Amino acid sequence: MTQDMLRNFFLGFIKIHILHHAGEAPVYGVALIAELRRHGYELSPGTLYPVLHQLEEAGYLTRLDRVVNGKVRKYYALTKRGAAALGEVREKTAELVGEVLEENLARRRSKVRKASARATRIRPATHGRDE
Ligand SMILES: [Zn+2]
Repeated sequence: MTQDMLRNFFLGFIKIHILHHAGEAPVYGVALIAELRRHGYELSPGTLYPVLHQLEEAGYLTRLDRVVNGKVRKYYALTKRGAAALGEVREKTAELVGEVLEENLARRRSKVRKASARATRIRPATHGRDE
């Protein structure tokens, strides 16, 4: 159950990675698997291809068949619709990162501030005795 939920989140992140990279240059399966591994996701072709097909069916990616070394390789390019969706996703991502990570940072900073406030409160007394 928990694993399913995480898998769901990560599949969403993976879709965003795919759209992002397809927007830079057309992408293909094996290269995407390597790129996603670099981001910490282990995906088999059996997981990746259905995701690519979903994005294609949504009209976010379009397939281009190119012959590479005598073999047809399926590339996927970002469509206008995909680019528009990616634009919305970017805004929401910035919002999410702002809240989830910045709040986390702020909490850590305030802990440091409280700790240093405690430290400065102690210091004058010791200094007082020393002087
Ligand atoms: Zn990437």
